[in-house]
Amino acid sequence: MKQNELGLKNGKWLIANCGNYPSESNCKVVLMAPDNQREDLLDAVVDHAVKCHGHANNRELRNEISKMLETMIVS
Ligand SMILES: [Zn+2]
Repeated sequence: MKQNELGLKNGKWLIANCGNYPSESNCKVVLMAPDNQREDLLDAVVDHAVKCHGHANNRELRNEISKMLETMIVS
């Protein structure tokens, strides 16, 4: 699939792909945001990790998720 089929704006994107990590629910959720909205993406991923995966909402979780983010250049 071509990237632009999603209608994404050109530039650097950050991606959190649950499917890359084993989970009991076999979660395949993908969350993404432009590079300049890193904090917004972290909020969304933390929310997902807490609600759907039962993680404790603390600074450590946010740090772990921050390290998990992948980048994709759309051009
Ligand atoms: Zn998930």
